[in-house]
Amino acid sequence: MEPWVEALLAWYRAHPRPMPWRGHPDPYAVWVSEIMLQQTQVETVRPYFTRFLEAFPNIAALAAAEDGPLLKAWEGLGYYTRARNLRKAAQRVMAEHGGTLPREPAALRALPGIGDYTAAAIASLAFGAPTPVVDGNVARVFARRNLLGDDFRKPAPRRALAAWLTPHIEASGAPADFNQAMMDLGARVCTPRTPACLVCPLRPQCQAHATGRQGDFPHTPPARALPERRATVLLLRDCHGRLLLARHPGERLLAGLWELPTRESVPFPIPRTRLVGTHRQTFSHFRQTLTVRQATLPLDGAAAALPPDLVWCDDPASLPLTTATRKILAGDL
Ligand code: SF4
Repeated sequence: MEPWVEALLAWYRAHPRPMPWRGHPDPYAVWVSEIMLQQTQVETVRPYFTRFLEAFPNIAALAAAEDGPLLKAWEGLGYYTRARNLRKAAQRVMAEHGGTLPREPAALRALPGIGDYTAAAIASLAFGAPTPVVDGNVARVFARRNLLGDDFRKPAPRRALAAWLTPHIEASGAPADFNQAMMDLGARVCTPRTPACLVCPLRPQCQAHATGRQGDFPHTPPARALPERRATVLLLRDCHGRLLLARHPGERLLAGLWELPTRESVPFPIPRTRLVGTHRQTFSHFRQTLTVRQATLPLDGAAAALPPDLVWCDDPASLPLTTATRKILAGDL
């Protein structure tokens, strides 16, 4: 084992970062945590992880989950396709692997929602396989340590870095600790703007530190401007205060979640509306601005016939809502 690997492991063991999924004996829990952590911060995931495992304590329970409770447990975490893929994968594990999560990275990668990174993470954290994980944090550490000028948002440089790390993780004898140490070092020490080089276990070998070029790595070409989408949504209540909600259409992203309807989706005349405010949200591929208008209808919603994707609702919190709708109802405008 090279001295830097020894120093990295010693640092990790001396500075553990408690997380509810760390040291969890159940590969299912590791898998759920890794899916939740995709594009989501650790602090956001913590309460969701605990609640999700209470609602769906094992693979069989997840495989049998209904849409409503599944989306409710995921509500607010975003990227809802992850929840549906998790259930699809659980059903495949029940059907094809006797209800036990497979250990091999290739078999894990064959399951819905599991790519190279997640397969490597599960294989190492749950089963001790020497498969290095390369996320943005890890790439930043080694781009600086080794002065690598690649764009690590692309798969090829990530794969090359994983290949370079493989003999080191094999020699470490502790793949789970090695991977978690790298992730933690990137998140807590080798941070994007102000790396804490003085306390970094990799400082003796770090070429960026030696040359004062931490700010030059990793190299990130400027991002494209995101396209803007605009819409007007309605806070419509009936004479009993019930709120009109629409089921989000389609099969991806927010499909199946409930949200405030647009004017076009309401099949009856709407009285004069009043401007309430605007709500902005950034998704991975676009920015969204919702103008919110409100009105009260002089009718009893329960008496009106509606298409199945619209509902008058007494208690919106009981339905899985889009993040934008939840925030608008909480007054975040
Ligand atoms: S010495 Fe500084 S720049 Fe180099 S890996 Fe450590 S924190 Fe990052």
